Amino acid sequence: MSMEAGSTPAPSRYSRQILFNGIGIEGQARIMNSRVALVGCGALGTVQASLLVRAGVGTLRIIDRDYVEESNLQRQILFDEEDVRAVLPKAVAAEKKLRSANSLVKVEAVVDDVHASSIERLLGGFDLIIDATDNFDTRFLVNDYAVRNRIPWIYGACVGSYGLTFPILSGETACLRCVFENAPPAGISPSCDTAGVIGPIVSVIAGMQAAEALKILSGGRDKVSRKITSIDLWDNRLEVIDLPLPHPDCPCCGRLEFPWLDGSSGSDATTLCGRNSVQIRPRDGVRIDLDDLARRLGPLGRLEKNRFLLRAEIDGYQLTVFGDGRAIINGTYDISVAKSLYARYVGN
Ligand SMILES: [Zn+2]
Repeated sequence: MSMEAGSTPAPSRYSRQILFNGIGIEGQARIMNSRVALVGCGALGTVQASLLVRAGVGTLRIIDRDYVEESNLQRQILFDEEDVRAVLPKAVAAEKKLRSANSLVKVEAVVDDVHASSIERLLGGFDLIIDATDNFDTRFLVNDYAVRNRIPWIYGACVGSYGLTFPILSGETACLRCVFENAPPAGISPSCDTAGVIGPIVSVIAGMQAAEALKILSGGRDKVSRKITSIDLWDNRLEVIDLPLPHPDCPCCGRLEFPWLDGSSGSDATTLCGRNSVQIRPRDGVRIDLDDLARRLGPLGRLEKNRFLLRAEIDGYQLTVFGDGRAIINGTYDISVAKSLYARYVGN
């Protein structure tokens, strides 16, 4: 049942990938020993997770802070209507599907938020980080971490019918801050929640990111794209420009300043772009007893609860509270309103 190369057995399920010259049996063995962290499991993340688990990475850790909603199903290909009904966290729903796609891969679902005080715990010890987030705060944080620890990572983003991607090999190529010095201010750039997005561009960009991932993981680093690729599938445009060399004056990879990692640019409350929602995050280490919270909130409004989270509809707002005390408050963009709802109903 297995193909042998020296002492390294490779299951026959990977036969087509092993036949491919760029990977071969040695490349497959490297892929099977690799540890990959996926930051975010929405549109890009579900496609990447599926490709990488099927390709046979050793470990895939899927980190996502959100739960599955009906409007995700159009493009987030690992989820289904049952996940929406069960209000499953995206990471958990993805893990369940992926286990049945390839039980040889160690898939780790982590329902959490990557921020300055959790990033070492969540990303430490991984060979590669893949960006599947929807916000620049997290991306600049991941960039700080990846540059400081010399971990390769792959940037990707899409909106509408447009997508952009490039890999970041710390020390060899420009980092995210060489390319974009600062995050665009919130509300300026279009997001999937304001401008929409079509499924095909997600698959294209996620597919390109996954291809770069397979090159890096299989030992084909010389083949990694040193380009910034942007594609618009509706306007039929493809643009490929050279990824610059690391800029000596770059605050991150040149001057080695890591403000996101130092926490000075993070915050405990974040407006979730385009979703009329605010995320509130308590200090690390807080645990909330969801049963106790359900008893307290039960008389106040409609409740739904599963093993991972509790959702309450109160005063026209929807509060979704996770076991680690994190909450997503839907119905406002106003951080102070969200903080006071949190203090009133969840606690300090
Ligand atoms: Zn840089």
